[in-house]
Amino acid sequence: MNLEEEKNISPVATAESRDNNDYALRPQRLKHFIGQNLLCNNLNIFMKAAQKREEALDHVLLYGPPGLGKTTLAKIIANELDVGFRSTSGPVIQRPGDLAALLTSLEKNDILFIDEIHRLNNTVEEILYPAMEDLHLDIMIGEGPSARSVKIDLQPFTLIGATTRAGLLSNPLRDRFGIPARLEFYETPEMKKIVLRSANLLNVKMDNSAALEIAQRSRGTPRVASRLVRRLRDIITSLNKENIEVKKDVADEALLQLGVDKNGLDKILHDLDFVIDLIKQNHPKIPIYCFGHSLGSILLLRYSIHAYHRIDGIACWNSGIETNLIAIIGRIIPVSYTHLRAHETREDRVWRHLHEK
Ligand code: ADP
Repeated sequence: MNLEEEKNISPVATAESRDNNDYALRPQRLKHFIGQNLLCNNLNIFMKAAQKREEALDHVLLYGPPGLGKTTLAKIIANELDVGFRSTSGPVIQRPGDLAALLTSLEKNDILFIDEIHRLNNTVEEILYPAMEDLHLDIMIGEGPSARSVKIDLQPFTLIGATTRAGLLSNPLRDRFGIPARLEFYETPEMKKIVLRSANLLNVKMDNSAALEIAQRSRGTPRVASRLVRRLRDIITSLNKENIEVKKDVADEALLQLGVDKNGLDKILHDLDFVIDLIKQNHPKIPIYCFGHSLGSILLLRYSIHAYHRIDGIACWNSGIETNLIAIIGRIIPVSYTHLRAHETREDRVWRHLHEK
C-alpha cells in the first residue's frame, strides 16, 4: 500500500483528525509501521498463532528510548488482533484496587497497556504476578483482624508493558513477559520514509532531498521527525506557502529557524544547565563533576555517551544515532578524555585535576 492509499483509507487521515497531535500521525496497522523489521515480523507470527488458537497473545514487554513507537505498536497489536485496548501508566496506578478495577473490566483476550511500567509500586506489582501467570487476583479486603483475602478470576488477557528503563524492572516482573522486544533507533532511510509519511498525512508537499535533511536531523527518533514536520508546516503556513513543494533549501532554512543543528541538536539540548537539572532530577545520587560550556565539553559528552550509553545508571536523554547526549558522570569521562584533550577548557582541567588526584 502506498502513502496515498493509506491516507485515503486510514481513519487517522480524516479532516478532523489531521490535526497537530500525535494521534494523527500514529500508524494504525502493522503494514503502516515503518522499520523495526525483525520485531514486527516476529510480532506478526506470534499474533497470527494466537489468533489461530483463539488465545490471548502472550504478555509483551516493549522497551527502548522514548519516541521510538512503543505506544504505537501496542495499539497496533490491539488493532491487528481486533481486541479491546485499555491504557494506563505505572505512576497512575497507586493502589492494588486501581489495578484490580482495570483487570476485572477486561474482556476475553483484551489488551492492557501499562506505559512506564518500571514505575509501578511494589504492592501493585505483586498483584500483577498471579494475574499474569494464573489469571487471578488475590486482594485483601478490610483491615486488621477482620481483613480477608479474596480471590478473583480474570478473563485471559495480554499485558503490554512499555518502558524506557528495562533495567529497573524487577526480575520476577521481567520474567513474566513471554515476548520481550527492544526497539532500536531508526536508520536514516527508515526515518526518511517516516518523514515523507508524516508530511503526506499533514498535506505538506516535500521532495526527497528535504525529507532526507529532516530525517538526518531527527536523531533516529520518529517522534522528533513528526515534530519537525509539524513545525515546518507551521512555518510554511505562516508564509502562505502551503502549496509549494518543500525542497532541501526550504527545509534547511526552517530547521535553522527552529534552532535545530546538523546533528539534530536543538537549543534545549545545547542548554547544559537544563541538562544538569534533568540529570539531577532523575539521578539525584550521581555526582556531576564538571560541565564546561564549551564545544569541547559538548563533544566530550557526545563521545562519552557514544561509548557508554548502554551501561545502566548513566543519565542519558534521547541519545540518537549521532549519540547526542548530554550526561556527564565522573567515571565515564577519563576514557574519552585522551581523545579530546585538545578541547580542554578551564572547567575541564579542574575536573581532571580533581579526578586524577
Ligand atoms: P513511545 O511510546 O516509544 O514513546 P510513540 O509510540 O508514542 O513512542 O511514538 C511517537 C510518535 O512517533 C507517534 O506519534 C508516531 O506517530 C510516531 N512513530 C513511532 N514509530 C513510528 C513508525 N515506525 N512509523 C511511523 N511513525 C512512527
